[in-house]
Amino acid sequence: MVYDAAVVGAGPAGATLARLLAAEGLSTVLLEADRLPRYKPCGGGLTLRALRVLAPEALASVRVRCPRAHAVCGRREVLVQGGSLAVAMVMRDEFDHLLTRLARDAGAEVRDGCRVTGARLLPDGVEVVAGGQPVRARLIACADGATGPFAGPLGRAVGLAGTPPHVGALEVELEDPAQAWGDEVRGDFDLVPRGYGWVFPKAGILSVGVASWRRGVGGRALREALNTYLRRLGLQSRRVLRARGHPIPVGGRLPASLLAAPRALRLGDAAGLADPLFGEGIAHALESAHLAAAAIVRGQPQAYARAVGATIYRSFRLASAVGDVFYANPRPWFALAGGLPAARAWAWRLAVGGLGHGAGV
Ligand SMILES: Cc1cc2nc3c(=O)[nH]c(=O)nc-3n(C[C@H](O)[C@H](O)[C@H](O)COP(=O)(O)OP(=O)(O)OC[C@H]3O[C@@H](n4cnc5c(N)ncnc54)[C@H](O)[C@@H]3O)c2cc1C
Repeated sequence: MVYDAAVVGAGPAGATLARLLAAEGLSTVLLEADRLPRYKPCGGGLTLRALRVLAPEALASVRVRCPRAHAVCGRREVLVQGGSLAVAMVMRDEFDHLLTRLARDAGAEVRDGCRVTGARLLPDGVEVVAGGQPVRARLIACADGATGPFAGPLGRAVGLAGTPPHVGALEVELEDPAQAWGDEVRGDFDLVPRGYGWVFPKAGILSVGVASWRRGVGGRALREALNTYLRRLGLQSRRVLRARGHPIPVGGRLPASLLAAPRALRLGDAAGLADPLFGEGIAHALESAHLAAAAIVRGQPQAYARAVGATIYRSFRLASAVGDVFYANPRPWFALAGGLPAARAWAWRLAVGGLGHGAGV
């Protein structure tokens, strides 16, 4: 059998694309290396940008809605009440598994525990080696994340150029059995250069992490910053359920040849689509799936690169400009936000995608 599309990776990008293509009647196979449900290091925070493009059925996996954020920088602390602009928290194993079930319900064939290890172009399509078996399709969608093989040699084998740049992130999941933390998001902007630490509550579990956008801030510096952070929060003796470092592919404007070739597209983290301000990636993974599906259904896969430029890259320009100014010296901005409720409200709307920019589908 030759599928219309083979989608590699059942994260938010791949599972959503498989659902959208199958719903349009295209024969679609979704190939996932791990057995589902699988763990993914991630804060699991869904902003308005993500919620706008999320399948409504996937809201069933939301564990907590956080209407408030507590931002800290040195002695400055700012509490932001987001009201209805809440951030929704999910556990990624549950969330991604649900998105994959929705793809299967729409008619996609889902093969988990099926790692893609090879790929080559054919005159009229692509052949991949998945779980040791050849799978043929007219087109391949590479949604294999920041560390998948299509960011490197397999991408080149199907006509995609380059590798998106990465920054480092480290996260632990801690037990919070009494849910004592409540429903507040916390961000600390004095732990690492050009980066931040976060606490995201998920009903019984806390995701605590640090990420830095500065090149050269490696694993050791992040580990030290995370330990400092846990002590600051008084959480250092909580039981650690999981601890993992993972890159965030903070893109920016990358060449179109990295995103699309005649028979291959890159989506989500594989395409470097994490936001350059906070490293948010789920919204852009979902949005890239919508843009890719529209281009594939129209029979113009390469139009996908233009669509990413007109929507996701547009929102990245604002995020990048704000990030350059803010991270260079966050303290005066905290002073401003501390004194001006309008500045606090603007910062929250910017963070959660309530300014009207962002998801363009
Ligand atoms: C510590 C950390 C915290 C984060 N917190 C947030 C947050 O709170 N909110 C937010 O919006 N974003 C967050 N992000 C970013 C977010 O996790 C990613 O942007 C998002 O997961 C991208 O989705 P994706 O579908 O592109 O890729 P992924 O979710 O990485 O999915 C890729 C899939 O491809 C599979 N795969 C890989 N190789 C192969 C292969 N050879 N064959 C078959 N399958 C393969 C993988 O197993 C995986 O299931 C965070 C990232 C990190 C590292």
